[in-house]
Amino acid sequence: MTHARPPSKRNGKNTNARNARALEIGPDGRKVYTKDRDARAGKRSATNRRAAGLYVGRELHIGVAVPRIGKTDTTAHVSFAPAVPRVIMFADPVPAGSHRGKTVMPHIVAAHRDGFCEDVVADAGYTLMSDHFLLPLQEAGIPVTLRPKSFQLRTGDTIGGAPVILGQLFSPHVPNVLVDLALPGRNATADERARSASKFDQRACFRFSRHKGPGADGTTRWRCPYCAGRVRSRTIGKSMRRPRTAPRYDLPRGVACCDRILLVGAGALPMMQPTIVGTTAWWEVWGRRNIVETVNSQLHGGFVEIDKGYVHLLHSDRIEVALAHTLAGYNRHEIKQFMRVNRLLDADHPEALPPERKKRRPRRNRVARFADLSPHTRPPPAS
Ligand SMILES: [Zn+2]
Repeated sequence: MTHARPPSKRNGKNTNARNARALEIGPDGRKVYTKDRDARAGKRSATNRRAAGLYVGRELHIGVAVPRIGKTDTTAHVSFAPAVPRVIMFADPVPAGSHRGKTVMPHIVAAHRDGFCEDVVADAGYTLMSDHFLLPLQEAGIPVTLRPKSFQLRTGDTIGGAPVILGQLFSPHVPNVLVDLALPGRNATADERARSASKFDQRACFRFSRHKGPGADGTTRWRCPYCAGRVRSRTIGKSMRRPRTAPRYDLPRGVACCDRILLVGAGALPMMQPTIVGTTAWWEVWGRRNIVETVNSQLHGGFVEIDKGYVHLLHSDRIEVALAHTLAGYNRHEIKQFMRVNRLLDADHPEALPPERKKRRPRRNRVARFADLSPHTRPPPAS
């Protein structure tokens, strides 16, 4: 929903707002550039269709339903609740450049209170706001999954001698080869990603485990991996009595694994996540982000195009009315698609899929049917 001109043809840069003359200063103290008194200037990132740059208009913050995390050991395994339709749970059109954390937090907290939100997967735009996003989420007891920015990957922060790596407390005895691990880039192959995840999984053995969750006061207590029996060392007798599946990493003689349970103050670990960043489980949890991307693309051409030219209205209230109807229509469409694909529509519904045929036990060799052959030997489908 923007009223900006396309980027300059001369240099390709989008400088609309930078060069624009302000008409007045709005009641919020920000400049008004257009007849649309509620529109403001903001920055946006590049997409396939447009360059990054400044623009004048509004931005839409949406919350999309994804399956919640079921059980996880934070590293290797995670299960999810059953799939849900990709509906938009809340949407808030605000002037461009508004504070993102302050915009979405009330909606998330309300959804959590009403029982619709157990954990959050956050877009990159929100993950930097510790004070207005990450900490309020922790206070509300809502776990968040995010992909740290490259500069957040740095190590060096410690709490009571224990390094904090990507928001998680680790033992100071993490092997050097595992200290500096980089997340694979966006274009990494599945193979590269699996190799990276196995390194992160190895390092995750050295994480501290939570001994006491954040109660009303937000403080937490943590136990070191040798005491918790996740890593064994010959110099620490009790750790050797643990199962041999735990990796062995011997400490020098006379070196203690830790000094007892570590007490951590409220808000000291703002980037803590339900799964350890970079591990196999984390990739699965973070993978739910694709559902949100699908919904974004539905709003940008798949179902409706809400970008430039969506409405020719200049009043926020009227735009909200138009948008509410659009999004309600999208949700109806999405729910029907979900019911259709999962064969939940009534049998006499015109769009209902035929009932699923029972799978027969595969036959081998002489009596095999086409469906029993492996995909390599099966004849290609008729086109
Ligand atoms: Zn210890």
